[in-house]
Amino acid sequence: QHARGLTVQCVAAPEQVTTRVQRNKNMAKLQAGYLFPEIARRRKAHQEKHPDAKIISLGIGDTTEPIPPFIVDAMKKSSEGLGTLEGYSGYGAEQGTPALREAICKRLYEKVGRKPNEIFVSDGSKCDIGRLQLMFGADVTVALQDPAYPVYVDSSVIMGMTGGHNGTGFDNIQYMVCRPENDFFPDLSKAPRTDIIFFCSPNNPTGAAATREQLTELVAFAKKNGSIIVYDAAYALYISDPNCPKTIYEIPGAEEVAIETCSFSKYAGFTGVRLGWTVVPEQLRYADGFQVINDFNRIMTTVFNGASNVAQAGGLACLQDDGWKQMLDLVAFYKENAAILRKTFQDMGFTVYGGENAPYVWVGFPGQKSWDVFAEILEKCNIVTTPGSGFGPAGEGFVRASAFGHRENVLEAVERFKAVYGNK
Ligand code: PLP
Repeated sequence: QHARGLTVQCVAAPEQVTTRVQRNKNMAKLQAGYLFPEIARRRKAHQEKHPDAKIISLGIGDTTEPIPPFIVDAMKKSSEGLGTLEGYSGYGAEQGTPALREAICKRLYEKVGRKPNEIFVSDGSKCDIGRLQLMFGADVTVALQDPAYPVYVDSSVIMGMTGGHNGTGFDNIQYMVCRPENDFFPDLSKAPRTDIIFFCSPNNPTGAAATREQLTELVAFAKKNGSIIVYDAAYALYISDPNCPKTIYEIPGAEEVAIETCSFSKYAGFTGVRLGWTVVPEQLRYADGFQVINDFNRIMTTVFNGASNVAQAGGLACLQDDGWKQMLDLVAFYKENAAILRKTFQDMGFTVYGGENAPYVWVGFPGQKSWDVFAEILEKCNIVTTPGSGFGPAGEGFVRASAFGHRENVLEAVERFKAVYGNK
């Protein structure tokens, strides 16, 4: 009954084409993808299962509010200028415009002895962490807070500083446990020496801000061991407590042991604009006496080509009086969100940390797995949080709620939490 002339073609499954390039063995060590893509995947699956669900995200920690007008105006002028002969500019200095380096220094670092030439403007802190790793190379040893911003671990793995994953963490990384039992500050008397210490204050995800005494101890520890601290101050302006320094250089002697990285992302809503900076003091030297600043300058001029000129114009506006005030108002808005979330969980009887000096609230679910709590909150409340264990083994039993959200969403989230967990 087949029509005559019909030929049935037998198509072989296309053979998979491969190159002869071996995969970077360090890339292969990384675990199940970076945390936030995994959260996004689960959120998408939940939305597909419940197409009508109005999901609220308190998860990824991306900013939501418009960039303040004074700062936007500066970027508008800068980009319009690019369309004119007089206002056009091309490549700039890889380290940033002198005006911006000076303004960052004047506003934040002059009083702690730093100089404009020690400030390297960039496209953000995350990118700078990657470039710092490139500078250090694979032969250094690394310690970090546990839990911590996942980029410190993953970039160390990619660089080849670590062994494989042992089921809990990576071999050759020193995880410095930071939990309520030790006031979220590592027990340095037990911590082994490493070359590099990543330290973030206020910490993402716990929201804990280190005190002056704690940072003094950390600097002394680094000095004793001859280590370099990479101090991540991305949330420093969220600190209210006067006993918590806003820069590591408030600690005498820190300039001999610490690099500091910071960002406009969470200050001015620049997560998409992309602008940050890293401070490398002239006093910081390698074992052979070579100044670290010279190597960082070499890295920045080799694998970076300067931050966007429009973004830098925005950054400059952030540091002028009007922009600074509007930026602090924006930070205050997110801090109010944090206070609302913190109080909600406290009132429901949860043990809550953070949220006072940081835009993150760290909620304890003792005896439960973070991913299970994440899944339950998504299922019952249609709210995306971040599972604490995604930030390191010591984050198990916690979830992080981010204060970056529109006020109405935060208030709606609060109602949903109360409806489900109100009678805990
Ligand atoms: N450092 C910490 C602790 C962060 O939480 C983030 C972003 O979430 C960054 C750095 C990245 O900042 P940037 O947007 O400047 O790359």
